[in-house]
Amino acid sequence: MQVAVVGRGLIGSAAARHLAEAGHIVTLIGPDEPAVRTEWTGPFSSHPDEGRITRMVGRSSTWSALAARSIGRYADIEARSGIKVHFPRALATALPEVDEWQGNGAAFGSDARPVNADWLRETTGIHTGVSHPIIWEGPPAGHINPRHMVAAQCRLAEMAGANVHKDVVNSLADLPDGLDAVLLATGAWGSELLGPKLDVHRIPRTVVLAEMVDDGRIPSFILRDPPDDRLNGIYWVPPVVYPDGRLCLKIGGEMREADVVDQTDLTAWFHADGGADEAEALQNCVRGLLPDVEVTSWAQTPCVYTGTPSGDPYIGWVDEQSVPSAGGPRVAVAIGGNGSAAKSSDEIGRLAAELVSEGDWADSELPAQTFTPVFA
Ligand SMILES: Cc1cc2nc3c(=O)[nH]c(=O)nc-3n(C[C@H](O)[C@H](O)[C@H](O)COP(=O)(O)OP(=O)(O)OC[C@H]3O[C@@H](n4cnc5c(N)ncnc54)[C@H](O)[C@@H]3O)c2cc1C
Repeated sequence: MQVAVVGRGLIGSAAARHLAEAGHIVTLIGPDEPAVRTEWTGPFSSHPDEGRITRMVGRSSTWSALAARSIGRYADIEARSGIKVHFPRALATALPEVDEWQGNGAAFGSDARPVNADWLRETTGIHTGVSHPIIWEGPPAGHINPRHMVAAQCRLAEMAGANVHKDVVNSLADLPDGLDAVLLATGAWGSELLGPKLDVHRIPRTVVLAEMVDDGRIPSFILRDPPDDRLNGIYWVPPVVYPDGRLCLKIGGEMREADVVDQTDLTAWFHADGGADEAEALQNCVRGLLPDVEVTSWAQTPCVYTGTPSGDPYIGWVDEQSVPSAGGPRVAVAIGGNGSAAKSSDEIGRLAAELVSEGDWADSELPAQTFTPVFA
């Protein structure tokens, strides 16, 4: 069958690879990262960065399954594309419900185990400052490079015969004739190509980069109630090299009072440098949690979180609710990363590719209802 995948981010590039490797005629459409962020008026992405946490422990069995299946294919993606994407280094997680996270991961092979705050401080230099229970998940937990993951998936898709077009799609009517199906994997700019809008919320997020020396001890980290009351939680990726050559720990978080914005407000958000309040709170967390580390420079950038009411991604057909034109291709979506989809993008893309290939949900373990798109 002939399929167009719109959105050349983490999920779209994975879906295009799986569709092309299944023998379909695939066109993958989406722009490159903007050369000058402040001048770009097209859609922005949530993935242009050097680090995203990967882990099997998680807030639900669904997310642990999506992660474990994806992690199981990282080595194959790296070997066949020749692009390094996975950096196993371990993860520490400190939150009240961490037992549940540990159980969800254990069901899929995670080795996560409880540790105490003293052990964590001596082993990593992290002073948690809270009494939440802590777990430690060893490799393959760590981080991936999301830019490299997109590049690897695109390379494999092209090796399997997919055509890549570096364009923005402004209307489904502009897509080529003769398509059997269209898969929208358009992230925060998600449902704007559909008639009725999907029920997704977009929360602008600020990311802070803290330049430091890497002593090799800092793991990926997730913490609830960090040392700045403006934040509900934080996560970080240990120091990695950024394109300007600086070695930076990347920290982000969840503000207790977060704005939800329309897609139309996002362009202005991406043209600025994030929020001053959020950046200050994140800097305070680095200072409080790593008191022995010297930060030699700070930087901040905007990003966006795309959430669904259920907290799970949407993967499903939407043409019954939103027919672009009678007799046109069927339309499916794979949208709603909920701040967690980078590590799991290969499996989210594979499930979407399988749906499009088979015409119906085919996974025997994960139910279709978990992923059914909901309209606003
Ligand atoms: C600050 C931050 C930190 C995160 N940290 C983690 C983490 O540590 N671990 C983790 O697993 N996940 C993390 N995530 C989540 C993860 O990055 C996202 O869930 C993931 O990027 C979603 O992938 P996607 O393909 O849906 O969207 P994207 O990666 O944003 O890709 C969507 C693509 O669609 C394109 N597009 C949109 N509209 C159109 C159009 N009309 N025509 C053509 N192309 C279009 C865009 O250009 C974009 O490239 C984080 C997210 C944020 C914001």
